[in-house]
Amino acid sequence: MASVNRSYRLLNNKFIFDSVASRVAAYQKLHPNKKIIPLGIGDTALPLVPTITDAIHSAADEMADKERFKGYSPIQGYDFLRRSILEHDFHARGMELDIDDIFISEGIQSDITNILEIFSPESVVGVMDPSYPCYLEATVMSGRAGEQRGGLWSDVVYLKSSVENNFLPQIPSEVVDVIYLCSPNNPTGVIFDRCELERWVSYAKCNNSIILFDVAYGEFITDPLAPRSIYEIKGAKEVAIEFRTYSKMAGFTGIRCGYTVIPKELAINHTTENGSTEKASLNKLWLRRLCSKHGGVSFISQRAAEAIYSPKGREEIERNMAFYLKNAERLFIAFKRLGFEVYGGVNSPFIWIKMRDGLTSWDLFDRLLSDCQITGTPGHCFGPSGVGYLRISSFAKALDVEEAIQRLKAWKIDK
Ligand code: PLP
Repeated sequence: MASVNRSYRLLNNKFIFDSVASRVAAYQKLHPNKKIIPLGIGDTALPLVPTITDAIHSAADEMADKERFKGYSPIQGYDFLRRSILEHDFHARGMELDIDDIFISEGIQSDITNILEIFSPESVVGVMDPSYPCYLEATVMSGRAGEQRGGLWSDVVYLKSSVENNFLPQIPSEVVDVIYLCSPNNPTGVIFDRCELERWVSYAKCNNSIILFDVAYGEFITDPLAPRSIYEIKGAKEVAIEFRTYSKMAGFTGIRCGYTVIPKELAINHTTENGSTEKASLNKLWLRRLCSKHGGVSFISQRAAEAIYSPKGREEIERNMAFYLKNAERLFIAFKRLGFEVYGGVNSPFIWIKMRDGLTSWDLFDRLLSDCQITGTPGHCFGPSGVGYLRISSFAKALDVEEAIQRLKAWKIDK
């Protein structure tokens, strides 16, 4: 008899952001003539830059040519893209990696959640709190979260990031086997500096833990001293897997392309049938998994990603990222003027607003929607430590940001 995976039954029926979307839809239904400005979503707003669309067109032409047509792509991705990644994202920044450490993905959401499959079911998972909700949901789906008690999962270690610790989690006092970290963090916008990352790498080494390092917004970092990759830290190749995506930096949310780095140095202890201990290579395990569960990434997407590394492509996407960061700065100032405590927005496209006067995240969400017709994302969507905050995204069109700022200026918040 077929029955449902129990771990899936533990999940809430609705994905966390759906409740926000239903609330906005309900408001719009009641007020069909009001123009809502969406500052809640993390999807990009600007179109693809010309160098990328040119690359897509010529890749499509290649696919239409009987001599140059491509079928399935190589399982780890085309060498032309992996070589560009190696050269620009790592070698040019002083990091040594090997081409076979790089796995091209169709964006990192699937890799960063599926990666849990290669760890033992007993592994204790730690998640930054607040953070991208998929880490926690994947942990629940994988059967490692335990039971939900008082809004918390019993077997998950919440790496609490609050205003008291500058939104950076403390090193845990217990052993955590697999650790999700994100820098710049979604939603707080905070980045890990070198010293913090060194502490995590050293913790992982001492405890035989693996860090899953999400750098989805890494290219938005403007601070010249901040690490853009965990591999800038000595020893990280032995303890960290890194996930990078073109989604936010180059508007690839619809194209789909990113990559996962699993250095060959990364090996964990594994007990064999006869009870002896061996080192298992995570790089080999992941490759083995992909052979059975992955059909490669579209040639056209990979050619599009390659174009990002050309001087012209880079210049064009830098302009777009600067535009989003400017939006973030303006929105930061607008909320600050209203008397809120505001964080993030400097090395990241998100700003993180603390509620005042005992308002809950939903209270501010509702007030912002009903008074200004602006949407944000309530902080609790990102974990229990997000309660009492609201995330505002700067991925918005110029006219929308301009109008949002005018509405915020006119907002009589204390009325
Ligand atoms: N990681 C973080 C922190 C994100 O915010 C997102 C998307 O919003 C992703 C990963 C997923 O990225 P991708 O589009 O590459 O799947």
